[in-house]
Amino acid sequence: MNHPDIYDAVVVGGGPAGATAAHELARQGHRVLLLDRAGRIKPCGGAIPPRLIRDFDIPDHLLVAKAQCARMVAPSNHRVDIPIDNGFVGMVNRDEFDEWLRQRAAQAGAERRTGTFSRIERDADGTAVVHFMARPPHTRGEGTPDSVRAKCIVGADGANSEVAKQEVPGADKGKFVFAYHEIVRAPEHKPAGYDATRCDVFYQRQVSPDFYGWVFPHGDTLSIGTGSADKGFSLKTATALLRRMSGLDGAETLRREGAPLPLKPLPHWDNGRDVVLAGDAAGVVAPASGEGIYYAMLGGQLAAQAACELLQTGQASALKQARKRFMKEHGTVFWVLGMMQWFWYTTDRRRERFVKICEDRDVQQLTFESYMNKKLTRKKPMAHVRIFFKDVAHLLGLARV
Ligand SMILES: Cc1cc2nc3c(=O)[nH]c(=O)nc-3n(C[C@H](O)[C@H](O)[C@H](O)COP(=O)(O)OP(=O)(O)OC[C@H]3O[C@@H](n4cnc5c(N)ncnc54)[C@H](O)[C@@H]3O)c2cc1C
Repeated sequence: MNHPDIYDAVVVGGGPAGATAAHELARQGHRVLLLDRAGRIKPCGGAIPPRLIRDFDIPDHLLVAKAQCARMVAPSNHRVDIPIDNGFVGMVNRDEFDEWLRQRAAQAGAERRTGTFSRIERDADGTAVVHFMARPPHTRGEGTPDSVRAKCIVGADGANSEVAKQEVPGADKGKFVFAYHEIVRAPEHKPAGYDATRCDVFYQRQVSPDFYGWVFPHGDTLSIGTGSADKGFSLKTATALLRRMSGLDGAETLRREGAPLPLKPLPHWDNGRDVVLAGDAAGVVAPASGEGIYYAMLGGQLAAQAACELLQTGQASALKQARKRFMKEHGTVFWVLGMMQWFWYTTDRRRERFVKICEDRDVQQLTFESYMNKKLTRKKPMAHVRIFFKDVAHLLGLARV
C-alpha cells in the first residue's frame, strides 16, 4: 500500500462543493488532493443565480442560456409570468461546469485523482488514512485499492455521502425529495409558446404531489423534470405529462436520470476531529426551490475556511464554524422555505393560491431579490408589511383566487 507524505487536506467529491473547497484550500497554500469518482454527469436543472456567478467568478461562456422570465403554472393552468428584473438566471450544463471548477482547483495547485472513496482509518499516531479504489481516467472497472494520509478531510461526496455516514453522527437524519429529469434536444421547429429565455415551473398535483415540475432551457437542450418525496409517485409518468403539456413529447431524449435532493441541513457537519462536510453531503439543498449549487459552493468555501483554521491552530473545534457560519447566513431562509413547501405544496387548492400570490408585484420583487442575491432587500419595508397581510389573507382564504 502506498503511503506517500501527508496531505493537508483530502477533498472527497469533485462536484461544486468539493471543487470549491479544493480551490480555496489550494489558494491558501495547502497541499490538497481532490478525489472524485467521475464517470457520471450529475442530474441537475443547472439554474444558478447571479450571486453565485459574482461570488465565484463564473465566466460567461459556461452559461448556455440566460432566463429572463419565470412562468408559474397553477393547477387550473392559470399562468403567472414573473419578469426577472435587473438580471437573469444562468443555466449551466453540469458536465462542463463541474469540470471547469475542478480544473480551476487544479490550476490553484490541487492534485486530482480519479477514484472512489471507501473508508477512513487511523494510523498509530492518530492520523487519518483515506482509503479509495483508484481508477485512472477513462478506464472501466472497480480500480485498485490505494490510500493517502491526511490532516483533514472535506466530505463533499453528495447526497448519500459515504464520508458522512461513516464519520459524522446524525448523518442518517436526512430528509429527501427524489428528483428526476430528462435532457432533450431543443426541437428545430419550436412548439407554440416556446421561449428559450423562460423557465416554466409547474405547481400541479399530477406533476408533483409535494414539490414542483420544471422545463428549463439550456440552449441546444432542455431539462424537463419533477420531484417528490412520495415513493409511490411515478416521476417518469409525470415527466412524460410535462413533455406533452409543453409540446416537447416528440423531442429527442438525450439522457434520463435522477438523484435525491437532501432538503434538511444535517445536525452536525464535522466529527469533532478531522472531517467536515459540505454541500449535499451536509444536506443543504433549499426546500421549496430545490436550489443546491450555490449552497454547495458556499458550503465548500466555508468547509475549506474551517479546515484552514484547523490546520493553522490544531484546534478541531474550528471545524464547527462551517455549519455555524452557514446557518447564521441562511438558516432562517431554509426554515421559511421548508414551511412554504410544507404549507403551499400540499393540495391543489393551496397551490392555486400560491401561484395567485405570485401575481403580486411586491411578492415577485422580494422573491427574486432573495433568490438572485441571497438577501432580503431592506429598501422596501412597507412591501414586507403588505406581503405579510396578503399572505395572511390567503392563508385564511379571505383573498379571492
Ligand atoms: C434532478 C435535479 C435537478 C436539480 N436542479 C438544480 C438546479 O436547477 N439548480 C440548483 O442550484 N440545484 C439543482 N439541483 C441540486 C444540485 O444539483 C445539488 O445540490 C448540487 O449538485 C450539490 O453539489 P455537491 O458538490 O454537494 O454534490 P454533487 O454535485 O452531487 O457532487 C458530488 C461529487 O462527489 C463524487 N462522489 C460521490 N461519491 C463518491 C465517492 N464515494 N468517492 C469519490 N467521489 C464521490 C461524485 O462523482 C460527484 O462529483 C438539482 C438536483 C437534481 C437531482
